[in-house]
Amino acid sequence: MTDPIAFLDLPKQQARLKDAIDRRVKTVFEHCRFVMGPEVEELEQRLAAFGGAKYAVGVSSGTDALLMVLMGEEIGPGDAVFLPAFTYTATAEVVLLLGATPVFVDVEPDTFQISMTSLAERLAAVRAGEELEPRAVIGVDLFGQPAPWDELKAFAAREELTLIADCAQSFGASYHGRRLGHEARATTLSFFPSKPLGGYGDGGAILTDDADLAALYRSLRTHGEGKTRYEVERIGINGRLDTLQAAVLIAKLDAFEDELKRRDAIASAYDAAMPEGIQAPARVAESESAWAIYSVLLPDAVARDSLQAHLKEAGVPTAVYYPKPLHHQPAYSEHHDGASLPVSEGLGARVLALPIHPELTDDEVSRITDALKSWAGENT
Ligand SMILES: *Cc1c(COP(=O)(O)O)cnc(C)c1O
Repeated sequence: MTDPIAFLDLPKQQARLKDAIDRRVKTVFEHCRFVMGPEVEELEQRLAAFGGAKYAVGVSSGTDALLMVLMGEEIGPGDAVFLPAFTYTATAEVVLLLGATPVFVDVEPDTFQISMTSLAERLAAVRAGEELEPRAVIGVDLFGQPAPWDELKAFAAREELTLIADCAQSFGASYHGRRLGHEARATTLSFFPSKPLGGYGDGGAILTDDADLAALYRSLRTHGEGKTRYEVERIGINGRLDTLQAAVLIAKLDAFEDELKRRDAIASAYDAAMPEGIQAPARVAESESAWAIYSVLLPDAVARDSLQAHLKEAGVPTAVYYPKPLHHQPAYSEHHDGASLPVSEGLGARVLALPIHPELTDDEVSRITDALKSWAGENT
């Protein structure tokens, strides 16, 4: 029996980067500035440069990054915030935490990114209802690929909506040859360990080109602090990035470009070997994915479950992102107007994510593609 393949291999990643991370972390233990130490600012500069944004603000998580961006826009009761129904829960949760209303939008059946047709329909419905004020759109760069930013920018400008980018899954991806990080008024990142640029705990960042906004986010992450330490200018949160996480992330950022290349090579190997009957993920035009998730598409739930079981038997772990669209989740359904979002409703039964991380060996990738082919041979 061969060793099982890991869906995410943090011990192996640790071993590969251990020396660099240890060196960085040791420095923090020496200076002991555990909150807002110099590594936070160093990381912020590196992140801004990497993402092509003027400013980066290190924060406690991707969720808190979104929360603070919405707080900065003074989003609250009576406001509508448009976001895809097929995304991670955090994108919608922050809207409700502020008392605003998430308006769920359907996604494209091939790229899984937000559907501009559905967005226009959902906006028209909210305007016709006259109960909510349309305020913002959160474009989510899903699975490592970019949202349709050209279309989203034109739409937001025309409809006078604030455009926010939830780039938690896709930092490192590029669009029209430029890295994501400056497509919206603010771009939020997550450093949750399983994201392409993952730390060793929770962490996040907000990127922006606007100096005033960057200053506002710095205030919001430190309890709404004013110009001096004990002046409270606004309501904020404890939303800072730990110095230790920043130290780990600086070391990880040094290896990030190589990791992105490795993820892309694995995706290409999967694409090339994909047998008939299993659909490889559609690529968003004019972009390069950060490959947070490589999700294949099956014709129906029976085929998906059968492939998942077959892969498990072969020692290949898989995952389903996301089994249920947000508007059908118990916590959110009562905040949904009942509109049907058929693509988001159907995808949960048909998607299946394969392992994709830099620690996968060529041998493991071959084992995975062999297992895909043997399933297809028996089932299609
Ligand atoms: C992971 C994720 C978040 C939240 O990030 P955390 O750092 O875990 O809080 C937000 N949006 C999306 C799309 C995500 O995948």
